[in-house]
Amino acid sequence: MSRTVAAIATASGLGALGVIRISGDKAIEIADKVFFPFSGKKLAELKGYTAAYGEVKDGDTVLDDGVALVFRAPHSYTGEDTVEISLHGGAIILRDTLRLIFSSGAFSAEGGEFTKRAFLNGKTDLTRAESIMGLISAESDAQLRLSRAAHLGKTAEKLDKIIQSLTKADAAISVFSDYPDEDIEGLDRESFSKMLENAKKSLEIMLREYDAGKILREGVDTAIVGKPNVGKSSLMNMLSGAERSIVTDIAGTTRDVIEETVRVGDIVLRLADTAGIRDTGDTIESIGVNLARKRIDSAQLILAVFDASNPLSDEDLKLLASLKGKNVLIIINKTDLGSQLEREIFRDFKVVEISAKENKGTNELSQKINEICGTFGLSPDSAVLINERQRACAARALKAVREAYTAIMIGQTLDAVGICLDDALSALFELTGKRVTNEVADEIFKSFCVGK
Ligand code: GDP
Repeated sequence: MSRTVAAIATASGLGALGVIRISGDKAIEIADKVFFPFSGKKLAELKGYTAAYGEVKDGDTVLDDGVALVFRAPHSYTGEDTVEISLHGGAIILRDTLRLIFSSGAFSAEGGEFTKRAFLNGKTDLTRAESIMGLISAESDAQLRLSRAAHLGKTAEKLDKIIQSLTKADAAISVFSDYPDEDIEGLDRESFSKMLENAKKSLEIMLREYDAGKILREGVDTAIVGKPNVGKSSLMNMLSGAERSIVTDIAGTTRDVIEETVRVGDIVLRLADTAGIRDTGDTIESIGVNLARKRIDSAQLILAVFDASNPLSDEDLKLLASLKGKNVLIIINKTDLGSQLEREIFRDFKVVEISAKENKGTNELSQKINEICGTFGLSPDSAVLINERQRACAARALKAVREAYTAIMIGQTLDAVGICLDDALSALFELTGKRVTNEVADEIFKSFCVGK
């Protein structure tokens, strides 16, 4: 029998309502010691999913009036008997009620303990459980949709399919190794490799989408670069819709790296408006220029701005040379001023034409950024892995599947293939939580807030 725990489930601060959750074998018994329905009934007499209006009393002292909602195992979030008491959302009311609940026999819940219990009681797999923190902390629609897809079990479903096909291949390989001389239809090296092919592809897609999903969740470190006066500040203002950077005609006025975030479609860009990339004798400005160079090296995405109304200069060419092999979008600005710029030199890059001054080209800009980040075509509603732990497990599984695949191809013994498949399956079971050590589970749920 596990101990009964309680915690405040709502955020601290003023609120119309505050909820205290009690979960465990004695949840209803303990709630009956502190909460008294006006109907005169005990909560113990109520069926699951039933609410009672009443008051919380410490002896004869009324702490508050509110509603107690009874859940009966296994039909609750945790899978255990649970009572949720909704009171007025004042910090003192909730604190005093919680103390009363503790003195009536409940223990303080640890961070994530309710969700951990839900996981241990088989109410949720790990991918769903982990998505809950994402639901709570989402700061954009895309972040929320990614977490919701995992929460609805789409990730779990996809993983189940991979697990099923690997299990099937594993079983077939065992049969084949046990009866190597029998000619059983569908059991040969070619069909084994086909069985693995799908699992391999699905894992590859999941890992690729993880990177794109991560960008949707966390945003992308972006540097805007270009020689002075091409319109970097204006571009930044166009993206953010605000006059934040100083825009002037004098080359070299953007001296510092100014950080700010802007949303382009579903992606959050963490922008730094950098000083013009050029050799400069001016000490104050060279500080900015050095920072700009560093940003080029560390940025995940570079928006390189060029001026459509002027031919390419040596500075432009130098900049272009430093961008080889990076994630770059070439932005040809000032298209409203006509075209003096040779485009051929940009043929190996993704290019977009805009006028920051006239606010033209925003949609194309957004689409190209999505293409470069790999987020184009990634629906936030699709099944994606949502954290490094999950990614690491999937990567281990893929490595093992590839090894199994190679083992088949080069004609190694089927035992060797079987061992690789077992490795792949155990990585996937760790991912879903089917086979996970207590230490790992503890670590995962520790990052949750208390009351969740
Ligand atoms: P930065 O030095 O690269 O940050 O360039 P700024 O954003 O300060 O712009 C330099 C000058 O070019 C300013 O006078 C802007 O108004 C002007 N400018 C920027 N974008 C455009 C554009 O698309 N069209 C036109 N005609 N002028 C622009």
